[in-house]
Amino acid sequence: MEYAIPFNVPPFVGTEMENLKTACEVNHKISGDGPFTKYCKKWVEEKTGTSCCLFTTSGTDALEMASHLTGVEPGDEVIMPSYTFCSTADAFVLRRAVPVFVDIRPDTMNIDENKIEDAITDRTKVIVAMHYAGVGCEMDAIMDIAKRHHLMVVEDAAQAVHASYKGKALGTFGDFGCYSFHETKNYSMGEGGAVLIRDPEKVEEAEILREKGTNRSQFFRGQIDKYTWVNFGSSYLPSELNCAYLAAQLDNADLINNTRLARWEQYREELSELAGDGTIELPYIPSYCEHNAHMFYIKTKDLEERTALISFLKERKIYAAFHYVPLHTSPAGRKFGRFHGKDEYTTKESDRLVRLPMYYSLTPDQVHTVTQAVKAFYETRK
Ligand SMILES: *Cc1c(COP(=O)(O)O)cnc(C)c1O
Repeated sequence: MEYAIPFNVPPFVGTEMENLKTACEVNHKISGDGPFTKYCKKWVEEKTGTSCCLFTTSGTDALEMASHLTGVEPGDEVIMPSYTFCSTADAFVLRRAVPVFVDIRPDTMNIDENKIEDAITDRTKVIVAMHYAGVGCEMDAIMDIAKRHHLMVVEDAAQAVHASYKGKALGTFGDFGCYSFHETKNYSMGEGGAVLIRDPEKVEEAEILREKGTNRSQFFRGQIDKYTWVNFGSSYLPSELNCAYLAAQLDNADLINNTRLARWEQYREELSELAGDGTIELPYIPSYCEHNAHMFYIKTKDLEERTALISFLKERKIYAAFHYVPLHTSPAGRKFGRFHGKDEYTTKESDRLVRLPMYYSLTPDQVHTVTQAVKAFYETRK
């Protein structure tokens, strides 16, 4: 079916093709770590203040690198929300670690920091904070718990590029922060991601892991006179072509961000009446979180109402979508992990949530069409 207003359109600012041409015809460099990759790396490092950013083939691979770098071993436990993308868990399950799922907060849909400590055992090694919709988890509390229990922290900041918590970029709090530049994310390279490394002494190990287990990066910096295979590794380098596409978007990051924020605000304003009388709920942004308008969602009364709303919008050629099916209820989640404590909000809140179209090229008129349709739906329910 053709949608008049699709759910997502990949971001495109117009200078991507020029960059691709430069990569092919001027730089003659299309494999990894060429000038465009270095440009993107530097952009993230300067923007976020992290000590090192390494680009990867996907957000999933950034998480996989982070998982390897935490050194988790088979049977070790990793605390994470169940309301997340499967890649958050996959990265650790690949190392035979056990995801221990903890309930979320109903307001931000992020892991409930008050329920983490109770899930800690003597096998716990890592806490994963996933910043849903680019809205920060309670990082002060999470970092404090990690410090007291000597745990590592990985941030799944796939949705949180260009977002911050108390003025500090998301992805820079934990030992490792993972970004995604998939086409559904705010800034895109098709498929791609990056891992942010907080502590400079861990950078070398990360470079080796990323370059097939070789010390090639040190060789290129002239620190050693020949390179060799020194540890296990893989090839996590993205193609220079993908980074050429992304570089155009990073050059226009403020434009993209401000445009998305304006559409997000428009949704919020035009739907505030429905929220005011309690018909729907709107996203909650803590005052100290600067978000990036990655997503605009509303919460309906229940699953039945949500299903009806999605098909009502579909009939009007508007694509709205629900989101994660909690991992602990999925076949792999049941096989590899367990839920700690009570599922008070994870299932209930995920059943009510529906995401409205949100992308860079979405126009104010289109947002208005969507909000009018949502209002029309609730007229039919009176
Ligand atoms: C998009 C996303 C990922 C995976 O990123 P890819 O680049 O698609 O591999 C992981 N975690 C979360 C929360 C995401 O939203």
